[in-house]
Amino acid sequence: MSFAVESARLSGSGYDFIDEAYLLSLLDRPAAAGAVRDIIAKSLAKQPLAVEETATLLAADQPELVAQIFDAARQLKRDVYGRRIVLFAPLYVGNHCTNDCVYCAFRRSNQAEIRRTLDEESLHQQVLALENKGHRRLILVFGEHPQYGAEFMAECVQHVYAATSGRGKIRRVNLNAAPLDHDGYRIVKAADIGTYQIFQETYHHETYRRVHPKGTRKANYLWRLDGVARAMEAECDDVGIGALFGLFDWRFEVLALVRHALHLQKEYRVGPHTISFPRLRPACGVKLDESYLVQDDDFKRLVAILRLSVPYTGLICTAREPPALRRELMGFGISQIDAGSRVEIGGYTEAGDAQVMELEQFELGDIRPLDEVVHELLVDGYIPSFCTACYRLGRTGEHFMEYAIPGFIQNLCTPNALSTLMEYLCDFALPETRAAGEIAIRREVERLPDGDRKRVLLDRLRRIKDQGERDLHF
Ligand code: SAM
Ligand code: SF4
Repeated sequence: MSFAVESARLSGSGYDFIDEAYLLSLLDRPAAAGAVRDIIAKSLAKQPLAVEETATLLAADQPELVAQIFDAARQLKRDVYGRRIVLFAPLYVGNHCTNDCVYCAFRRSNQAEIRRTLDEESLHQQVLALENKGHRRLILVFGEHPQYGAEFMAECVQHVYAATSGRGKIRRVNLNAAPLDHDGYRIVKAADIGTYQIFQETYHHETYRRVHPKGTRKANYLWRLDGVARAMEAECDDVGIGALFGLFDWRFEVLALVRHALHLQKEYRVGPHTISFPRLRPACGVKLDESYLVQDDDFKRLVAILRLSVPYTGLICTAREPPALRRELMGFGISQIDAGSRVEIGGYTEAGDAQVMELEQFELGDIRPLDEVVHELLVDGYIPSFCTACYRLGRTGEHFMEYAIPGFIQNLCTPNALSTLMEYLCDFALPETRAAGEIAIRREVERLPDGDRKRVLLDRLRRIKDQGERDLHF
């Protein structure tokens, strides 16, 4: 830990590494074509970019440079992630909240919102419904409220792992919740969480103050900024960061996300596992300020630029975005998506496809069932992956980087993606999806180099399909 971070810790606060004036000044610099080419080359060599380099890509808005950025992002994504797309679902546990974030339907002053927390039985029913669709990874989402302390969240995580139905079982539970103190992170870690996700929403101090009214927990910018660093110090070394795009200049938020990732890498020797970039959506009782809404073309650029800036960080695009855009973004950046998602409390059993505005946090853009999304991914040549092996085998944090950086990830991830896909096809897929999936698996196996790994994988695929074995992973 550097002296600056250590002294901030000793004085009981966090260290503000968002050098706002400097980051804003970078946005005024023009981009020379030669510099853009050099930066792209660095990124294709799988080296993370400095904020100054990301700023150059952000300034490169001439059509031919933008095209080069998209091409490079496409290539880098193929090189690092192959054709895998990891699938998950959000599970909203409770919408009580003591904060008053102006953009969110759960904010405390929103009288129109019906408040609810899933009890143990309702949580169980939600999990079974998700398992019966074939999900293996969930992210539990909570408002910020004394009811939702670390112990409560840890209990929810344990219930989710314990709920099994037939062939269904959730193998990885992530959290998206308020920042905790060190002890809180230790408690949720002991319940075996995967990623702890906290979005800064906006890194711009003045905007942060405006959208998070005084007197609320979330008004404390530094407590939140420091949230994932505390998680790492408490051995929760698998963290996700993000910004809510539409609150301030998207280019600044991209620079700040890169600054945040570099800060974690420098101080804790491991960057964030994922970056999320939700775009502001209409929500019950929310009057959107439209000044900074991000248009589709800029959104695509920001995804491509993030891809190039942080080659080894997973990029998540949620069902806030419409199907056609998600499909496009997968080609040059996104490595994880949710599918079959509902963002109302109890939505997996109670609401069906109807949108229940009083319980929703915001409107979704993609409400297609999981199987339809899996089918589209297969048709587009991707491998939908339900793999959860890395975190279960302790390949997270620094250990994960050891695997990721030398490029071993594909040797582990592709075979694991294929065996979890085979499980999905046998247990949950509709006939058309199963047919498309089996063709995809054959094609991918043929692409693997001959050798022991391929032989073992072929044997496992046969055992999953013919003998009903499950959970075989490298
Ligand atoms: N309450 C916790 C917090 O604020 O960190 C976690 C859950 S919050 C329900 C999850 C995320 O939803 C927020 O971090 C925010 O980025 C996003 N969100 C809130 N309102 C939104 C809206 N109107 N459109 C899109 N995303 C929104
Ligand atoms: Fe509460 Fe989170 Fe919504 Fe803010 S974003 S009002 S903290 S649920």
